[in-house]
Amino acid sequence: MDIFLYNTLSRTKERLTPLIPGQIGLYTCGPTVYNYAHIGNLRTFLFEDLLVRTLRFCGLKTTWVMNITDVGHLVSDDEEKEDKMDEASRREGKDPWAIAEFYTQAFLSDIDQLNLTRPDYLPRATEHIQEMIAVNQRLEEKGYTYTAGDALYFDTSKFPDYGKLARLRLDELKVAAREGVTTDSGKRGPADFVLWFSNKPDHIMKWESPWGVGYPGWHIECSAMSMKYLGETFDIHCGGNDHINIHHTNEIAQSECCTGHTFANIWMHTAFLTLGRDKMSKSSGGFLTVKVLTDSGYDPLAYRYLCLQAHYRSELELKWVWDDESTKTGHAANLDTAASTLKRLYERVARVEDEPLTEDASFKAAVVDVLGALADDLNVPRAVGLLHSYDSPRLWKHFDAVLGLKLEERAVKTEEVIVEVPDAIQSLVEERQAARKTKDFARSDAIRNQLAALGWELADTPQGPKVVRK
Ligand code: AMP
Ligand code: ZN
Repeated sequence: MDIFLYNTLSRTKERLTPLIPGQIGLYTCGPTVYNYAHIGNLRTFLFEDLLVRTLRFCGLKTTWVMNITDVGHLVSDDEEKEDKMDEASRREGKDPWAIAEFYTQAFLSDIDQLNLTRPDYLPRATEHIQEMIAVNQRLEEKGYTYTAGDALYFDTSKFPDYGKLARLRLDELKVAAREGVTTDSGKRGPADFVLWFSNKPDHIMKWESPWGVGYPGWHIECSAMSMKYLGETFDIHCGGNDHINIHHTNEIAQSECCTGHTFANIWMHTAFLTLGRDKMSKSSGGFLTVKVLTDSGYDPLAYRYLCLQAHYRSELELKWVWDDESTKTGHAANLDTAASTLKRLYERVARVEDEPLTEDASFKAAVVDVLGALADDLNVPRAVGLLHSYDSPRLWKHFDAVLGLKLEERAVKTEEVIVEVPDAIQSLVEERQAARKTKDFARSDAIRNQLAALGWELADTPQGPKVVRK
């Protein structure tokens, strides 16, 4: 089946044509580990997981690379702003490496709780400084750089395609860039950006380089690490849509000027998770994490289910209300609904006896139908809607390889609780209890065998006898 994906570069859905038949190289911008990931970041990572699962479900051998940004970087090239990693280091009284390690582990625990597939490679920026320096040197040799004010800059005026992803002309991008930069002294053009910072004695993490002791610019790590693991041209690059105008525009500029050919064929961008009208951002404080959800009594997979209900290119609003700011707990009506739908789904999947798709032909037709929704630019909400309408435990389980809701595992676990014990069976259990009380073990064993013949298994637990469907 052909897969169509919306490419931000062309603003259209394009047929996915792998560079190497049957294989996909995918790079996704990962977390900056100076704090916990908020559930907005996790929405983007969750979409990327759905993409990987879908590609693999369709038989494509997919290599997924996600970077870990553990070098502190400035949000803009503004020299007056403190590096976030340094700021966290001072806030928590730990060195930046300890901060990065702590939040990397927290991130891995979050993605495990949301049942994300682990990326094949999770390269850390601090372990790829030499690769970044090498890309910068190639850019320098080709004349795309200049040095000014203790920094090595990329000269955007040398790359005529600079605005192709954002669909903005260089002069419009210059205005956008200027808004974020107030005191950057040495730049020739306002959209130019730093490839290497040197002569920053206060910066804690620093390395030797041809431009002096310092640290890499914000964007270069993604170019260096994606090319290292996936080659100079690869199939798909993803991130949140806040990265279109600057970060991804700059990644393209430095990569394509360095190699002389296309960097990534398809660019996919996720719309934001919002809280009411506010965007979620790490710097605004009081953001929502997986821990806040679990402390508030939510199953992290309920959040996963909520995300499945919105298309990745549409904003998703979490109607969050803080119940108690001091204990950091709260609730959201749409998350409650997602949680109860998921619970019913676990119950439904356990009831395999009323499976509607008993014919192989009808099962296959349903699979093609649901797959069609996924192959149409990952229309997961439509796929989920179709699965609900087929109401088939077998089909749900088949597609759980994509949905990642742990349907099999959870359905088995809840089966005991959710299968209602018919009255006739219950009275046999009581009769056996009475027989045991009078020490009539022959009768009690006979009843146990009778229950087994009827398809019920009896276990004596500390809470009393329990019957479970065999
Ligand atoms: P960061 O750790 O800030 O580099 O962000 C990691 C990823 O999360 C990036 O791809 C961002 O574009 C994305 N992101 C940031 N905020 C949100 C949000 N509110 N909703 C969805 N994605 C987001
Ligand atoms: Zn990136």
